[in-house]
Amino acid sequence: MPNSATSPNALADLRPPLPFLAAPGYAATDAWVAALQAAMPDERIVPFSALSPADQAAVTVAIVANPDPAELAACPNLVWLHSVWAGVERLLAEMQHSQVHIVRLVDPRLAATMAEAVLAWVLYLHRDMPRYLQQQKEQCWQPLPYRRAAQRRIGLLGLGALGEAAARSLQQAGFPVLGWSRTQKHLDGVDCYSGEAGLAAMLAQTDILVCLLPLTAATTGLINAQRLAMLPAGASLINFARGPIVVEPDLRAALDAAHLQHAVLDVFAVEPLPPDSWQWTHPAVTVLPHCSAPTDKESAAHIVAGNVKRYREQGLLPKGVDRQQAY
Ligand code: NAP
Repeated sequence: MPNSATSPNALADLRPPLPFLAAPGYAATDAWVAALQAAMPDERIVPFSALSPADQAAVTVAIVANPDPAELAACPNLVWLHSVWAGVERLLAEMQHSQVHIVRLVDPRLAATMAEAVLAWVLYLHRDMPRYLQQQKEQCWQPLPYRRAAQRRIGLLGLGALGEAAARSLQQAGFPVLGWSRTQKHLDGVDCYSGEAGLAAMLAQTDILVCLLPLTAATTGLINAQRLAMLPAGASLINFARGPIVVEPDLRAALDAAHLQHAVLDVFAVEPLPPDSWQWTHPAVTVLPHCSAPTDKESAAHIVAGNVKRYREQGLLPKGVDRQQAY
């Protein structure tokens, strides 16, 4: 006979509810609630709308995807929240006056997905696919000079969870990899740089620049005309991080001047990219709809579940974002 006091539902009933908070009208709320509930049978996962006033007061942990700040404020005893996204710049801005501990998603499956995207689009540029696409439109039969992967240097901006995974897959494909981070890193086989002088040194040796930085005050506008000019002529850019890290008019000027050969852009200052944006039709731009590394609900739910379990059973808070550095 199962002991009802230790059955999963009994435990869930004893605990405060664990709400999932998203932007109003978010289409995937039900799918997230289902994935989180499957990963946490001992918890009662509910959308914010299902919380009674007593529930709201009881909530100590929340799981969020672009939540409405007013709904967060309605949970006065919230101790920490877990974002199901890796980038939390918006949450940090909206919660700058709150003491709530903010945890972002660090998921090896997300890192593997991003590493795959980086490799795919580096190969797209490396094997001249944009130019062959153009040649086909012009019915032009013209092989372009071949360059070995070993002759194409890839510079990574950001060597965190995503940057390090990208570095490994690029190395395995035979590309020399350089990387830049805020604090000095030491990664096997990666030429690591930090600081302003380190950035200049890396840019000068980079054929394809890949941005995997968080959006913070320090990285907003980092890729500007001055820094684009430090890249060798004919270099390319991939931005898979956040739009405002790149100064879009400066990027356009560098592409128009053919100093930059091509840009693969997954993220923009305004998303969805407005219909009249120059990027849609620029011959040297590939536009992607913020799709380079979507969160996998099942795997993210298991990461969140592990963090919630350690908190419920041992009182351990997961590592949170550094409010000072804002990532
Ligand atoms: P992370 O683990 O926090 O790594 C961030 C890296 O950037 C670290 O190496 C950090 O340096 C470096 N960095 C931060 N500020 C810097 C600065 N001012 N100067 C130099 N380096 C700096 O983050 P992550 O998990 O790799 O994610 C990175 C970003 O990817 C997220 O913030 C998110 O915006 C974006 N993202 C995009 C998608 C998409 O689909 N497009 C999906 C997921 C994530 P230290 O190592 O010294 O700390």
